[in-house]
Amino acid sequence: MVGTTIFHKIVRREIPADIVFEDDDIMVFKDIHPKAPLHLLFIAKRDEDFVPSIDDLTEKTAHVPGLLIRKAQQFAREHGIKGYQLRFHVGKDGGQEVFYLHLHFLSNQKLEQQQSER
Ligand code: 5GP
Repeated sequence: MVGTTIFHKIVRREIPADIVFEDDDIMVFKDIHPKAPLHLLFIAKRDEDFVPSIDDLTEKTAHVPGLLIRKAQQFAREHGIKGYQLRFHVGKDGGQEVFYLHLHFLSNQKLEQQQSER
C-alpha cells in the first residue's frame, strides 16, 4: 500500500501497532491514546479502497464505510461485545488528525475480559 500517513506505515508494518485482527480487506488495531476501555481503529487495506476522509468519498470508494461498519459488527459479535460506539471524525474541524479513513470502535467492554472469560 503506497502512501505516507501513519496508518499506511502501520499497514506496511514499518511502525508497530497492537493489531487485533487482519484479513485481506481490513486491519484493526488498538488506538494509541484510548478514549474508552476498548478503543479500536478499523481501516481498509487495499490500495483501491484508500480514501483520506469521509469528505473525499466518491462512487468508487462509497462502499468503504460500509465495509468497515460491517467488519466492526462482525468483530463485536465474535468477541461478545454487546454495546459499542462507532465514529468517523471528518476533517480537521471535525477532529480528524489522520487522513486515512478510519472507523473508531469504542466500548466499555474490554477485549481482554472477553478473552479471559472464555
Ligand atoms: P482521528 O482524530 O484522525 O479520527 O483519529 C486518529 C486516531 O489515531 C487518534 O485517536 C489517535 O490516538 C490514533 N493514533 C495516532 N497515531 C497513532 C499511532 O501511531 N498508532 C496508533 N495505534 N494510533 C494512533
